[in-house]
Amino acid sequence: MNEEAQATNEELRATNEELQVSQEMLHSANSSLAQILDMLPASVVVIKGRELLVDMINDSNLKYWNKTRDEVIGRPFLEILPDLAEQPFAGQLRRVMDTHEVIDVKESPVLFTSADGSIRETYVDYTYQPLYDQYGNCTSVLVMSFEITDQVLSRRMLERYANELAAANDQLSVTNNKLAKSEARFKYLIQEAPVAIGILNGRNLVIENANSKLLEVWGKNESVIGLTLPAALPELSNQPFQQILENVFDTGEAFFANEIRAMLEHNGELKEYYFNVVYQPVGGSDQQIADILIVAVDVTQQVSSRKAVEQSEQHFRRLADLVPAKISNALPTGEVTFFNRHWLDFAGMSFEDMRDFGYHQMMHPDEVPAFRAGLATAAVNGTPHVSEMRFKNTEGEYIWHLNIASPILDEDGKITMWVGSTTDIQQIKEEEQRKNDFIGMVSHELKTPLTSLGGYLQLLRRRFAKSDDQSSLQILEQSLKQTAKMTAMINGFLNVAHLESGRIPINKTIFSISTLFDEVANEADHLNVTHKLFFAPISEEVLADHDKIGQVLSNLVSNAMKYSEPGTAINVSANVEGNYLTIAVADQGMGISDQDLNHVFERFYRVETGINISGFGIGLYLCAEIIKRHQGKIWAESEIGKGSTFYFSLPMS
Ligand code: ADP
Repeated sequence: MNEEAQATNEELRATNEELQVSQEMLHSANSSLAQILDMLPASVVVIKGRELLVDMINDSNLKYWNKTRDEVIGRPFLEILPDLAEQPFAGQLRRVMDTHEVIDVKESPVLFTSADGSIRETYVDYTYQPLYDQYGNCTSVLVMSFEITDQVLSRRMLERYANELAAANDQLSVTNNKLAKSEARFKYLIQEAPVAIGILNGRNLVIENANSKLLEVWGKNESVIGLTLPAALPELSNQPFQQILENVFDTGEAFFANEIRAMLEHNGELKEYYFNVVYQPVGGSDQQIADILIVAVDVTQQVSSRKAVEQSEQHFRRLADLVPAKISNALPTGEVTFFNRHWLDFAGMSFEDMRDFGYHQMMHPDEVPAFRAGLATAAVNGTPHVSEMRFKNTEGEYIWHLNIASPILDEDGKITMWVGSTTDIQQIKEEEQRKNDFIGMVSHELKTPLTSLGGYLQLLRRRFAKSDDQSSLQILEQSLKQTAKMTAMINGFLNVAHLESGRIPINKTIFSISTLFDEVANEADHLNVTHKLFFAPISEEVLADHDKIGQVLSNLVSNAMKYSEPGTAINVSANVEGNYLTIAVADQGMGISDQDLNHVFERFYRVETGINISGFGIGLYLCAEIIKRHQGKIWAESEIGKGSTFYFSLPMS
């Protein structure tokens, strides 16, 4: 070998050695590179050539791809991960090889399809960096990626939460606003409620809250808030409230009371109050009773007005017991609610016995129907019913009473109750009887000499009629007229006396009305008629007391003459309607006012006319009594200055 060759050989050997060294170095460099790569916190893969073969890969990347080293080294990247063909990576890798640019992508989604077909969504930050060979050609790409799936997902979740939170916050603030408003309103309502409301805290009853009304009834101001109840209201010390409140604490049960009385100090003066109260225990967080809620309705006014009513009722009852009359009260239904002491003493019964059956049993049976009918009319008209009636006493005697049942009406005219006052008139009745007997007796005694006087006067008149002494004849005529008047008056008294002692018997016979008319016409003739009297023709007959009805008719005719100008007409007529025969006497006289018309049938009632017309006011009373005993009706119509018509009707059968 020549030197050159030897030298070359040497060089070659040296080069070989160098090569070997550098190969060894390369190997060790490669393995240390792999080690370094594995240690990197990033995924690293080197993709080589246009086929995109996996040249190098670290553990982290294998894990990310979910592959083993053998499955990937030397194989085309898209074969290993066919999923990624649809994604931009292959194109980007080739672009880096062509253009040598560096691609840096943040938060790129990478989707893998798992064996079970489910999609694994991952996120990575990655860079594609061109790698050059010794000739400066770019044949490989260094892919360095960081999986940030967790961060992205957590951030996204965070963002979602944040959004939700924001939305919730928005809502919350709206709700809060509303809540604040409604709480304010609630507080205001409680504060200004017309009901006293407050909260006492703890067993020593610290006033935590008291609304305006509570402070008002306590007679205090806000300064009591924070004080204990006994300190704020020392006047309660001898009243039951503290004990009741303690009980609520002990039992945990609410306390309710109506119209509980409290004496409360207002400006140094004790005032009486009545409340409907509730003491409601309110639990704290540890289930223990922490507070008592007080709700109290001030019912002082109602209680005092009720007490006033009760008092006035007591007053009324005491008064009712003091008056000498018998007093009763009844509901509109007729149910009796009160009999005074006099009633109970008179009946010898308890209130209950008298109410349930006694009252009506005590009435004289003859008077019950009229009383019931009268009461019914009074109820309809809203007017008092006045009647004289007998009630049986404890000895079984019927005692005369003046009974007045007065309906009490409300503003609408509705009956709210009946007040009955029943006065013993037995003595008056007896007095009256004695008076009637006396009048009867006197009248009777007067009648006999008067009848004789009349007879003598008629005898004298006959004698003088034959003589020429005209003036004496006239005097005699006048005397006869006055005697007739006096007889009529005495007869009236006698009738009243008889009537009132029930001694007017009614003797009914059938007679014709026209006969009655003739008799009355004759009688009037006899009395020197001063008016134009007309009797309408009538063919009816009636069953009645002939004399008494004749008396009624002549009374009405003589009244018609008495109260109208001489020469005016008086019409007497009869008319049948249904089962009733009605007779009318119409004059053209002075007339009667409506007010007087209501009274002319009463005993001794006379209208104040200013003109002196003689009479006692018993004529119409007698007429009415006679008609009443015939179960008939009597009434009048009249107009002042125009005349009056008096009617009476009798049942035909
Ligand atoms: P007297 O006629 O005796 O007063 P009456 O009982 O007959 O008593 O009448 C009562 C009152 O009725 C009379 O006072 C009179 O004022 C009034 N009166 C009766 N009839 C008539 C009549 N036809 N016209 C006007 N007033 C009459």
